[in-house]
Amino acid sequence: MNSKHPETLALHAGWRHDPATNAVAVPIYQTTSFQFDNAEHAADLFALKQLGNIYTRIMNPTADVLEKRVAALEGGAAALAVASGQAASALAVQNLARVGDNIVSSTNLYGGTWNLFANTLRDQGIEVRFVDPADPEAFARATDDRTRAYYAETLPNPKLEVFPIAEVAAIGRRFGVPLIMDNTAAPLLVRPFDHGAAVIIYSGTKYLGGHGTSIAGLIVDGGNFDWAAYPDRQPALHQPDASYHGAVWVEAAKPLGPIAYILKARVTLLRDLGPALSPFNAFLVLQGIETVALRMERHCSNAQAVVDFLLTRPEVARVIHPSQQTGAAAERAAQTMRGGYGGLVGLELAGGADAGRAFIDRLQMVLHVANIGDARTLAIHPASTTHSQLEAEEQMATGVSPGYVRLSIGIEHIDDILADLGQALDAVTVRAAA
Ligand code: PLP
Repeated sequence: MNSKHPETLALHAGWRHDPATNAVAVPIYQTTSFQFDNAEHAADLFALKQLGNIYTRIMNPTADVLEKRVAALEGGAAALAVASGQAASALAVQNLARVGDNIVSSTNLYGGTWNLFANTLRDQGIEVRFVDPADPEAFARATDDRTRAYYAETLPNPKLEVFPIAEVAAIGRRFGVPLIMDNTAAPLLVRPFDHGAAVIIYSGTKYLGGHGTSIAGLIVDGGNFDWAAYPDRQPALHQPDASYHGAVWVEAAKPLGPIAYILKARVTLLRDLGPALSPFNAFLVLQGIETVALRMERHCSNAQAVVDFLLTRPEVARVIHPSQQTGAAAERAAQTMRGGYGGLVGLELAGGADAGRAFIDRLQMVLHVANIGDARTLAIHPASTTHSQLEAEEQMATGVSPGYVRLSIGIEHIDDILADLGQALDAVTVRAAA
């Protein structure tokens, strides 16, 4: 597939037709295991002399198409499909950082990732040092000789300020530290490898799938990071791996391409921890990806129309969206995002927490769920749900004020979205006056 156009890659990359039946749609290879041609073939597969199907916990032909397609969309070398976005972020870090090591992460994170980093990885002996991304040099200051990676989200909610990918990736490359970017909120709109990131992770559950049917995750290896140049900084890829009869991953991957990082993740972590994506869910995410380019266009244009509408409403004290930012944040959004500012919109209701709850309760078409990136429009009031365990000051520090409502704008007709938001805002006024 020679095209570089995402619209085309989303339909064609990684698959032509089924070699066994000529089927054009990607089949669901719902099998646990694969027949070896002969004893030598089996031995070669296990010895990584050639790559091929062994067992669906480690690889599967349906997942393989998904992996190739997402790698092509990002301009990466190879990808690994896993059971969820959470599994993707965990494996992406564990692949480099071991007991006693640390990573430096942006503070602006999805709550599940925050928990993983602040609690579960800490309990496993991996320290996560959180820094404010408004000051990219903070990543350098937090780096020591046990720092194995940097981590951030491209377009983190609730603040929706684009992360300084190029600046932090460049800092990391000074030290031999790769930048891992969670690009869940901005597929196609941001291409983190173009800005120097080394690894991309996705929750495929969101925009990539789009249909809200399947939990899935992906890790993409940019193939653009010179691991071999940093033997001391990246021991996990340079020291003989006892779990794979002494393989040294930078060496073992050489005949296969610049895929040391993702090869290790597949044949050690996915093998040992087991968060494999089912072939059926791989198929469903592939179905979603076929239309992701069209959907992102509509998410962006609908979200911009919602922003313009909310700005006219007196119940709304502030609208949070990259188009409303000023200064460095606005500049970064303009430089980093292509084709639109995404489908996420925040609004702060002047009436505070009561107004937030009233607004949510009055929505008729818009769904009230803890998710983003669905083809349907979704809303949530974080102060009373996702962020309710935090103290008031902590909520404010993460960008969640009492009246904050997060919208994930879908691809319905814009008139219906605006009508529903408008009638729910009317209710806020009525209740505030009562
Ligand atoms: N990253 C981001 C930005 C998310 O929003 C989410 C889920 O909401 C995840 C990762 C985790 O993904 P999953 O729910 O597929 O495990």
